[in-house]
Amino acid sequence: MIDFEAERLRMVERQIRRRGVSRSEVLEAMRKVPRHEFIPAEHRRAAYEDHPVPIDEGQTISQPYMVAKMTELLALTGRERVLEVGTGSGYQTAVLAECAGKVYTVERLPRLAARARTTLTRLGYGNIRYRVGDGSGGWPEEGPFDGILVTAAAPDIPGSLLAQLGDPGTLVIPVGGRLTQDLVTIRREGGRDRRTDHLRCSFVPLVGEEGYAS
Ligand code: SAH
Repeated sequence: MIDFEAERLRMVERQIRRRGVSRSEVLEAMRKVPRHEFIPAEHRRAAYEDHPVPIDEGQTISQPYMVAKMTELLALTGRERVLEVGTGSGYQTAVLAECAGKVYTVERLPRLAARARTTLTRLGYGNIRYRVGDGSGGWPEEGPFDGILVTAAAPDIPGSLLAQLGDPGTLVIPVGGRLTQDLVTIRREGGRDRRTDHLRCSFVPLVGEEGYAS
C-alpha cells in the first residue's frame, strides 16, 4: 500500500513550499485535497510526483506546483466567486473550492466533466457549479467573477473572460503557442488592468471559439 498522505505532505514541502509558494490557505488546501483520487487507477502511483499526469482523452492533470502557483496568484480569502475554465480531473477545482466561496467550472469534454463531478461530489464539495461546453467565452450568466482561472493554453486573452472579470478581480491564464506559454495575470483594480508575466509553462490547448480551432 502506498501511503498517499505521507507522499502528499512531502509534495507540499519539496515541490511547493521550497519553490516559494507561501500563502497558508493554498498550502493547507494542497495538504488536504487527495490528489490521487482524481487520477485514473493506472497512473495513480504517480499522483504526487513533480509533473503532469495523463487523465484520459489526451488531457493531463497539471503539475502540483502549477496548481499551487496559479491558486496563489488569485490571492483568495475564502469568500470569492471564481470561474475555472478546464475542469479536467477536477483536482484544481477542489483546491479552488477549499480557498474560495463558490467555484463555477466549465469543461468541454463530457466524459471528463462527468468523472470530475462524481469525484468532487463523493469528496463532499458542495460549493461548485458545473457546466459542460466551451468555456473560452466564460459563463456570462454568472459573471462578473472575483477570480478567473484558465487551465488550458490560449493564443490570446479571450475578450469574453476580460468582460466577465470583476473590479477588483484577477485573471490567471497561460498565453502563447501550442507547446509553451507564459503564465499571465491580469489584475483589475480601480478600472485599470495590469498585466504580469510570471513564468514559462506548458498546458494543453484551450479549444473553442476564443481559443484554438482544434
Ligand atoms: N485543471 C485541470 C487541467 C486539465 S487540462 C486538472 O488539473 O485536472 C485542461 C482541460 O481543459 C482539459 O480537460 C480540456 O478538455 C479542457 N478544455 C480545453 N478547452 C476548453 C474549453 N474551451 N472549455 C472548457 N474546457 C476546455
